[in-house]
Amino acid sequence: METFDYVIVGAGSAGSVLANRLSEDGTTTVCVLEAGPRDWHPFIHIPAGFMYTLVNPSVNWMYTSEPSEWTGGRRIAAPRGKTLGGSSSINGHIYNRGQRLDFDGWAQRGNLGWGYADVLPYFRKSENRLASAGSQAGDETFRGNEGNLPITDLEWRDPICEAFIEGAVNMGIPLNRDYNGAKQQGVSYVQRIIQKGRRVSAARGYLKPAMKRPNLTVRTNAHATEIVLEGKRAVGIKYNKGGKGGAPTEVRARREVILSGGAVNSPQLLQVSGIGPAKLLGELGIPVKHALTGVGENLRDHYAPRFVARVQGATTINEKSHGLPLVREVLKYAWNRTGILSLNPTLIYVFWKSDERVDNYDLQLTFTPASYKEGVQSTLDDFPGVTIASWQQRPESTGWVRAKSADPFVAPLIQPNYLAAETDRQVLLAGMKLARRLISTPEMKRYVVREEFPGAEVTSDDGLMQAAKQRGTTTFHLMGSCRMGPASDPTSVVDDQLRVRGLEGLRVIDASIMPTMPSANLNASVLMIAEKAADMLRGKAPLEAAILKD
Ligand SMILES: Cc1cc2nc3c(=O)[nH]c(=O)nc-3n(C[C@H](O)[C@H](O)[C@H](O)COP(=O)(O)OP(=O)(O)OC[C@H]3O[C@@H](n4cnc5c(N)ncnc54)[C@H](O)[C@@H]3O)c2cc1C
Repeated sequence: METFDYVIVGAGSAGSVLANRLSEDGTTTVCVLEAGPRDWHPFIHIPAGFMYTLVNPSVNWMYTSEPSEWTGGRRIAAPRGKTLGGSSSINGHIYNRGQRLDFDGWAQRGNLGWGYADVLPYFRKSENRLASAGSQAGDETFRGNEGNLPITDLEWRDPICEAFIEGAVNMGIPLNRDYNGAKQQGVSYVQRIIQKGRRVSAARGYLKPAMKRPNLTVRTNAHATEIVLEGKRAVGIKYNKGGKGGAPTEVRARREVILSGGAVNSPQLLQVSGIGPAKLLGELGIPVKHALTGVGENLRDHYAPRFVARVQGATTINEKSHGLPLVREVLKYAWNRTGILSLNPTLIYVFWKSDERVDNYDLQLTFTPASYKEGVQSTLDDFPGVTIASWQQRPESTGWVRAKSADPFVAPLIQPNYLAAETDRQVLLAGMKLARRLISTPEMKRYVVREEFPGAEVTSDDGLMQAAKQRGTTTFHLMGSCRMGPASDPTSVVDDQLRVRGLEGLRVIDASIMPTMPSANLNASVLMIAEKAADMLRGKAPLEAAILKD
């Protein structure tokens, strides 16, 4: 049987970083199993291709979440990347780390070495922050310039975006030149992992350069079906070559098996392998090999209603996406990689607070000069429109991922329990009210004809919450389903070295280990986690903690 030092399940954001770092010495043998195909699909690499990969089953697991009260009984799409690069190959390209207090909160929960000063050097390590024309790369206490992923500023400017920012600033929300620097709060154009008009996924930044090494083996269309245990030690992975119906195969790991399948698939693989809540496994007829209550619990996500306004007096992306204008945009992209095809789905960020009296930036809002049918980012409206989304940064509501069957090819059940916690509803309500103020500023009034959704007539708290129920949707940030925590926490799945509790030779390294939601989109944090974990696996001392002024 083939044996490698490490077997990694999943070539997504975390798996790509690990594949690179663990094979860096040229001698350690690493095998990566990826259920999806190679990342040849052209829409992966064109930024606006996001709209298509979002609904394309050839590179997307196309999950949906279970209905719940605050989604009005709707199932919400839960896309996950299924190709080299994983979700970093289909995501919205945004680079956003979160706030100092997010990671200090992880450390305060008993996770040694995960405070902001500890993780900042790993954020820096993963990035190559590039200055754009007329702006600086940022304060080097916070920003790195030797990492694998280029972080660039959005250079697109148009009259509506400028009016939105001016309106926000005049409302008292300051312009922030670097929301990944000392402070997150304020309004600004986004930072992206796009270079010269092309997506730079974790596969492009980390995996591809390492694939030239003879000690790294990457297998695509290789769906892991079981973690092989000998007693309490993980020794290998069973997988199907070619996916469902493919040839059952097994690889062995001399040192460790690493799960980087993401927040949905990592807990599912643990559960179908007999590692998880005994009651659930019993119901599914899976023999319990290692009872672990927390596997699949503590799932969280961001839930965002998107308000839409009809505009006039300026062109939005909607009109540029049809007929002749679209031909022009395609030619522009082909010529010098500019125009709407080079854009990511969100152009402007606002980080602000739900209560002006409290120093707590718990709201994230995004603005884009485009609008989507039913508020879902795959089909643009036929009229000139803009969208503003708002969400609570650190939701309290928790849900779960549970295998639906012992068959690893049956999609698991995903229940994020959006807005179940009262505090999440209160903060979101404040977010929706702020969203409305931001599109009603004098500067925006020059363009806005009317609010299309939910509509200016919806003013009561009840009405706004009904709108959230009717059209709220995910911002694609599932996390927490194999939570890192101290031994005293009976629901923790991994310790602060990301080792699965009670087992040997098995770690989970991906978005599922996050104990709580950072105030951010998640890719930057997943890359940081994998960079840090790679040093743990290699027995290297952690990078020196950053020295931060208060
Ligand atoms: C549509 C979308 C938009 C997003 N937008 C942004 C954004 O703009 N900015 C941002 O910061 N974050 C964004 N995110 C979130 C971010 O991209 C993810 O949180 C992050 O990429 C997760 O990394 P991961 O390593 O945990 O999992 P993934 O990157 O999802 O990787 C998991 C990999 O494991 C593979 N896999 C799973 N199960 C198996 C198995 N059994 N056998 C073999 N292989 C398996 C999968 O196919 C996948 O390639 C977005 C996510 C999505 C889906």
